[in-house]
Amino acid sequence: MAATLQPEGVSRTTNGGDDGESPARWKYLNTLLGRAGAYSDPTEFIPGDAPIMNIKNARILVIGAGGLGCEILKNLTLSGFRNLDVIDMDTIDVSNLNRQFLFREKDVGQPKASVAAEFVMKRCPGCKVTPYVGKIQDKDEDYYMQFNIVICGLDSIEARRWINATLVGMVDEENPESLKPLIDGGTEGFKGQSRVVLPTLTSCLECQLDMHAPRAAVPLCTLATIPRQPQHCIEWAHILKWEEERKDDVLDTDDPEHITWLYQKALSRAREFNIPGVTYSLTQGVVKNIIPAIASTNAIVAASCCNEAFKIATSSAPYLGYPGTNNYMLYTGDSGIYTYTFEHQKKSDCPVCGNRPKAITLDPESTLGEFVESLAERPESQLKKPNLRTAGKSLYYSTPASLEESTRPNLKRKLEDLLEDGEVIAISDPAFQIDFQYIAHFS
Ligand SMILES: [Zn+2]
Repeated sequence: MAATLQPEGVSRTTNGGDDGESPARWKYLNTLLGRAGAYSDPTEFIPGDAPIMNIKNARILVIGAGGLGCEILKNLTLSGFRNLDVIDMDTIDVSNLNRQFLFREKDVGQPKASVAAEFVMKRCPGCKVTPYVGKIQDKDEDYYMQFNIVICGLDSIEARRWINATLVGMVDEENPESLKPLIDGGTEGFKGQSRVVLPTLTSCLECQLDMHAPRAAVPLCTLATIPRQPQHCIEWAHILKWEEERKDDVLDTDDPEHITWLYQKALSRAREFNIPGVTYSLTQGVVKNIIPAIASTNAIVAASCCNEAFKIATSSAPYLGYPGTNNYMLYTGDSGIYTYTFEHQKKSDCPVCGNRPKAITLDPESTLGEFVESLAERPESQLKKPNLRTAGKSLYYSTPASLEESTRPNLKRKLEDLLEDGEVIAISDPAFQIDFQYIAHFS
């Protein structure tokens, strides 16, 4: 199998020996798109050359060239798409090679986007893949306007929120071309999701932010008193024992001696409470907060994303995200194999695509500092460096330093001294181009 994936191993005669125009290359697409299917809508889908031309001419942006990105690029080109762009700021690490199959050992240290683009172009003659090595934030609206569809294979919520806000902001009601379908794939271990956003028409990624709620921390008392899971024993060693016995050493999670020390402490505690499952690699995972990337989850989620792109480009079958229908597919592969597809509804108080401030109940006796801290944990905001103001005054600014200094004393003040009941608080975070509006109600 590996040999057939190597560009060097591709025989020019077996794939038509041309620039991708041989009839054999389009045989399966002709079969698929040359006639109506059981679910195709006769008012939307006209079988024949038109949908095939749509595939040939569509310009697609793939964001991320990692585990999902490699799969997405491969699926798109083998489905007939020929004009792709890929953005990724990372370089290839040796640990990527087990699943990011467009990369070889000789590529370690090279940028993912350019190596992936080159591999795909060699393997699929006639395909043009344009790489950009850098951040999505480097590009402006004119750049994103060139594409027909945007597909994200990212592991960062911050980048997703940024591209989502950008694509929603680009929609001009007078110009239907300005609405770019956004297909988002995501995986975490054996779990994954694919979803489609039609910016301004359907629920956006920001509406769905509470689906990515930060994992609840285990209360310290559970760690200190009665652990129930191997993770609790590891966290106990990590948070409590290290502080107690080695507080002069700075914990280095890449130092094997440190991890071994934590592992042995955790193991003895687990024995005391009869909890099985503490291992060296679990210790490493918990301490570094790592969830292993699973190749099969990436393959399934990427396949689903590319299937949606194919349906959107050709109208050959109903796609996720058609307004009023299902737009979100969840996949779970750790306890049996399970998928669930549903409609996530648009929120009228979404800070990106809604038009109404969000109501929030606050304790008038609590401090502004407590409220600012809660913004990082609230599933619907997840803001780490917020700036807060009301119509009349600046409450608190995390940046720049001069404003931080002048507004810092407010953090200790009670909310009732800073706000009126029913007043609107505007909150922004420089990372996201999003303005949150909250209406504060005192409890
Ligand atoms: Zn929204």
